[in-house]
Amino acid sequence: MDNKVLIVDGHLDLSMNAMEWNRDLRWPVNDIRLSERGMTDKPDRGKGTVSFPSMQSGNVFLCMATQIARSVRPGSTIPGWNSPEQAWSHTQGQLAWYREMEECRELIQIRNVSQLEKHIHQWQSPTGRLPVGYILSLEGADSIVSIKHLEAAYNYGLRAIGLSHYGPGIYAGGTDSEEGLNARGKDLLKEIGNLKIILDASHLNDVSFREVMDHYDGPVWASHNNCRKFVPHNRQFTDEQIRELIGRDAVIGVALDAWMLVPEWRGGISTPENRGVSLKQVIQNIGHICQLAGDSLHAGIGSDLDGAFGREQSPVEIDTIADLQKIPPLLSDIGFSDTEIINIMSGNWIRFLKKNLGNN
Ligand SMILES: [Zn+2]
Repeated sequence: MDNKVLIVDGHLDLSMNAMEWNRDLRWPVNDIRLSERGMTDKPDRGKGTVSFPSMQSGNVFLCMATQIARSVRPGSTIPGWNSPEQAWSHTQGQLAWYREMEECRELIQIRNVSQLEKHIHQWQSPTGRLPVGYILSLEGADSIVSIKHLEAAYNYGLRAIGLSHYGPGIYAGGTDSEEGLNARGKDLLKEIGNLKIILDASHLNDVSFREVMDHYDGPVWASHNNCRKFVPHNRQFTDEQIRELIGRDAVIGVALDAWMLVPEWRGGISTPENRGVSLKQVIQNIGHICQLAGDSLHAGIGSDLDGAFGREQSPVEIDTIADLQKIPPLLSDIGFSDTEIINIMSGNWIRFLKKNLGNN
């Protein structure tokens, strides 16, 4: 494959970077890095990898872009807002940022199949610079104060939702917690099904995963999730969980966060160089999902680049998100056909969206 392929990224926390990291994503990545020189408030300062110019040059023409705001119980060791109402308000600020980026034609929101088809068509033969498309997604449902709030979110274009993030969560236990799906979570799932919002299985712990699968029969994907076969931690899926998702025609986006690529990553000590974190492990995860599926129809990319980490916790080949273009030749090297590569880089997400996005 000679030309840059079109890429869909299943998971980017764009508004979190803009609103919490104070990054103007219209700037080139290098300018954002320069502006953060000397800052120490976050570990990835000066090391970000994502902005609109780099998405444009990497042909990342569509992404699932999140709103994200956790709410925590008193005494929680995990940071978060002290009430769902605060979390909701925070997500509304994030929404306002997405709207501003639409105003300046950096982004265009994709809510339904006809908008999706038009967007794909335009990017296949672009005449000038086009906005990047985004499917609005919510990472963890803590900010959904009530069913009424979920309906409001659907009306402003929310099309995918995960029930939990890190910790116990309001509706279902997330990564590193023990709790399952509670009664409120079951009610919320029912409404998610009624509204036909795509359920994101990422960040469900094992108990929640089981209970959510038993209580929900609508469309499900995993926007950013790797394989436990390579990194034994509850954030990653077991082969059995991956098989179950495949059985439901899910797409699983492989994430580029180093701790999810090599075992026993130690924050602040491990580096991509000293742990040998490279796109090789990304390819390994893609290959494993394809092997479990017996085809190339269920693996995708859900990079999570700039999901609170930068170059210090990314594969060594990644300087910016544009380097996702280094994945297709690596897939080709191990025998994936051009058709299979296109499935993985964009086709699977697109097929899923055409089937499940609806017409509203
Ligand atoms: Zn995440």
